[in-house]
Amino acid sequence: MIEGKIMISENMKLVQENIREHCEKSGRNIEDVTLITVSKTKPIPQLQEAYAAGSRDFGENRVQELLEKFDQLPSDIRWHLIGHLQTNKVKYIIDKAYMIHSVESLKLAQEISKEACKKHVSAKILIEVNIGNEDSKFGLNKSDVIPFLKEIHELPGLQVEGLMAIAPICATPEENRSYFQEMKELSVDIIRENIDNIHMNVLSMGMTGDYTVAVEEGATHVRVGTGIFGER
Ligand SMILES: *Cc1c(COP(=O)(O)O)cnc(C)c1O
Repeated sequence: MIEGKIMISENMKLVQENIREHCEKSGRNIEDVTLITVSKTKPIPQLQEAYAAGSRDFGENRVQELLEKFDQLPSDIRWHLIGHLQTNKVKYIIDKAYMIHSVESLKLAQEISKEACKKHVSAKILIEVNIGNEDSKFGLNKSDVIPFLKEIHELPGLQVEGLMAIAPICATPEENRSYFQEMKELSVDIIRENIDNIHMNVLSMGMTGDYTVAVEEGATHVRVGTGIFGER
């Protein structure tokens, strides 16, 4: 356990240091990048270590797991739901998730809106983009994002904060640079559309294998699991 402790806090320091370095390299401000500690499959004590080392943003991909951890960890944690969300589970997390990163269908957006209104909350959401056009991944194709935003922008209780992407698995981070650039360009195009109620404050992209390049290309949130906790 002691080794585990040291490992997690040391890894977090290293990741933060990399983020700082790549912010500097690209003229960005470190305050504009949030590290989300992706804790899926990891046991509570490891999350507590990450919390003790300063993490307040945790990412989970399953509703049930997020709920269990929510109950057992401090209440100042911001829980990010980063995995695919089924409409029938929205009601359980609507007032627990700080932000839902994985909205990619009208049906899901409508359900989040409905449940948010019921609980009198405003749900922060991101639109998931399948930037590599991979069959294995969820998310909208790039060209469908603006029409989709025009469909959902008037739904009450929804706060569209930006975009999320899972880039293809890469051998080196450089391979995904063009995908991250496309995401940034898409967010700029969306801002130009000036759609009521649609904000582009968040660009959630970059994981253990490629977050350094994602930071250089404008990520506001990087989602790092393996790089902090080790292999799953
Ligand atoms: C698991 C996961 C991550 C973290 O992946 P690592 O490669 O372990 O950093 C990031 N984003 C999503 C959506 C994930 O499911």
